[in-house]
Amino acid sequence: MPTTRNVAWDGRLQAFKGRDITHYVTTAADLAKTCASCRAPLETDEPVSLLVEITQSWAPDGTEYLTFTDAVCHRRCSGPVLTVRQTPWEPDTLSPVAARVLLTQKSKSGRTRVVPVLAFTFVPVLSFREDGGELTSALVALPLARGFQLAVSHDYAAILEQAAEADANCRITVAPEGLLRLRLDGEILYREQLHPGSADDAEWLQAVARAGHILVISGDNLNITETGLDIHAAAQHGTLVIGTVPVSGVGSFASAAQHRAQRHAR
Ligand SMILES: [Zn+2]
Repeated sequence: MPTTRNVAWDGRLQAFKGRDITHYVTTAADLAKTCASCRAPLETDEPVSLLVEITQSWAPDGTEYLTFTDAVCHRRCSGPVLTVRQTPWEPDTLSPVAARVLLTQKSKSGRTRVVPVLAFTFVPVLSFREDGGELTSALVALPLARGFQLAVSHDYAAILEQAAEADANCRITVAPEGLLRLRLDGEILYREQLHPGSADDAEWLQAVARAGHILVISGDNLNITETGLDIHAAAQHGTLVIGTVPVSGVGSFASAAQHRAQRHAR
């Protein structure tokens, strides 16, 4: 039974993770706060086990897709576990978790600018492997190959400072009925139905229409909940990806949404 630092893991995991295994095991342990079995808090450096469930599917082009769901237990509560499930290839079952927020940035001249942000991640993390090569994270490797940047700070002011425009073939469109789509090289990486009647959506879209672009914050280990967006772990583990993407089609939808929101507010 291999052990990395204080974490025991199933040796078969090596074949799935390759070179990334040490990083994966220690990251999973760092992110876990409580034992998945007894629910008691995990102390730093106490002996723990890694429990991993992998789903494995193959796209028609032969690319292997893997999702990893992991949990951490006290060693006394459970030994390491690995389960692997083969599933049919279903590209539409990805489950993104997203947050839309507005950040404000002050320029050196003292002017304030509102930057619309779309943050999203996949839960569980999606990885793929082409032609038996290295395992690659879909939300880290794909955007980085298309002009996105790796953010090393979780500080939003630093992120706003660093963010640069992604490649020209990256684009966000908003269809008249409110369907937002992020495309990289023509492939849809993220889609979301916006709601014209929602005041939050209307406000965000107004900002998008004014800015003409969106700051995309993505990658793995983003913690997105009802109450907010936490990017500390992603920045710390080198899986936080940022980039500015131009938006088209938002004008007509944004003004329609504003009218509807105003009617609603009356
Ligand atoms: Zn326990």
